[in-house]
Amino acid sequence: MPDYEVVITTDRTMMSNHHGKEFLGFLTTGPAVGLPEKVYMWLAAPKVKVDYEGKPIEAPYGLRKVEAKLIDEGFKAAIIDPDYLSRYVSSVKVLMIGHHDFFAYGPPSNEWWLITGREPINRLSFMKFMRSDAVVEAKRRGAKIIVGGPAAWQWLWELKFWKECGVDMVVEGEVERVIADIVRKALDGEELPDYVLVGPNDTPSLSEIPVIKGASINGLIEVMRGCPRGCKFCSVTLRPLRFIPLDTVKEEIEVNLRSGNSNVILHGEDVLLYGGYGVKPKPDPVIKLHELARKMVKGSIAWSHTSLASVKYSEDNFKLISKLMSEYVLSDYQEFIGVEVGIETGSPRLARTIMPAKAAPYPPDMWPEVVEDAFSIMHENNVIPAATLIVGLPGERGDDVVKTAELIDRLKPYRSVIVPMFFVPMGALRNRDWFDKNYVTSEHVDLMLKVLNHTLYWAEDILERYYMKEQHLKPARLLLKLFMSYIKWRIGKVVPTIATMIAR
Ligand code: SF4
Repeated sequence: MPDYEVVITTDRTMMSNHHGKEFLGFLTTGPAVGLPEKVYMWLAAPKVKVDYEGKPIEAPYGLRKVEAKLIDEGFKAAIIDPDYLSRYVSSVKVLMIGHHDFFAYGPPSNEWWLITGREPINRLSFMKFMRSDAVVEAKRRGAKIIVGGPAAWQWLWELKFWKECGVDMVVEGEVERVIADIVRKALDGEELPDYVLVGPNDTPSLSEIPVIKGASINGLIEVMRGCPRGCKFCSVTLRPLRFIPLDTVKEEIEVNLRSGNSNVILHGEDVLLYGGYGVKPKPDPVIKLHELARKMVKGSIAWSHTSLASVKYSEDNFKLISKLMSEYVLSDYQEFIGVEVGIETGSPRLARTIMPAKAAPYPPDMWPEVVEDAFSIMHENNVIPAATLIVGLPGERGDDVVKTAELIDRLKPYRSVIVPMFFVPMGALRNRDWFDKNYVTSEHVDLMLKVLNHTLYWAEDILERYYMKEQHLKPARLLLKLFMSYIKWRIGKVVPTIATMIAR
């Protein structure tokens, strides 16, 4: 067995391909309701295949970037599946652990936690992993523990657990430029700072971002970093916008193909802005990106995120959505494409103050219309959005919530799932108060009910028409159906719970 001195890993909720269905990963953000915890974990986050060394065939993309950077810099580093970590406790000198939502403080985990009163499984699974024999033993033998990723800030709210686990350092931000130096210091036994926030001066340039060396979960590859829209609640916007060149995209698709992964998820905060001018999509680079993906990949093409303004603008001006879907994405083997989008609010007043460029190039006052038009375009073209809404944005008034509820009514005809999230202080609003149950109003309850009904209606339709039709996914599909029936039944019970919150 090779003696890796740097081991990169995470807990099972992250180290899973969610049966090849990225959207099922959302289940890891909730508590195991309606199913025994083990069964729920299997449904949300089944184990991944590993090689003879315990290295996962597919691993989270962020961990792949760290692994690639460290290997390029000459370290003996590898990603190891959490179940195989115990094999490396005698060789590991630096244990690196990444996560999207370590303690379930991010959306939508914190919302499910608040509504159900039960801790989400991502939190339980992560804490269990940190207390596992392998992590405790590695620490006892002197390994330095470094944690990081987009949810690094959550450790500041878990100081007791931080101490209990003996975490040596927390790193937040894009790490490509700084990570080799940090690991070198850790290996040399130098003192490490408790917390490092990688600032704009240390943002990696394109040439400093390495090509991944192993397959990523569900073939996800990054095509751009950063976002020009500047929403005040978002930390992504603090990063400069960079487009990953097509040659690099090609190399990363090849890495995935070599591992037998024939699907691709194009990852970016607004995939339709790939190669664009500011907030305006430009058809040529987006078409070239899809042409390349379709030429290389026999399976499905998906997008991680796009903005609703880009959907409307690119279709209204260039018929880009219809062209991409009909010529590159949809086929006999792919009936739809899924993507995450942000509605956040239906109130033009709030849109103007909190996310003035979200509707751009359209004015913020047109935001509800932009949302509705984009939903209609996506529905027509078999693009299924998973949309977020933020409840409790700073400065939110009752009439803003009513406007959002009215917008949800207008979105009824369009196939989509909508996930409401409670405001979490991030980005330019990181010093503001968290939204908690004491702030829940009757307008919020009305909105949440509309959203739940909308999502359950369309989730059933999506499952019936398109989702998890593969033979080997039949048991998972059946479980998912059972789970949804249970949630539907529970809605009647959730309403009085929320009503009680308001009454308190
Ligand atoms: S559009 Fe999305 S990624 Fe861009 S700043 Fe707004 S919330 Fe962040």
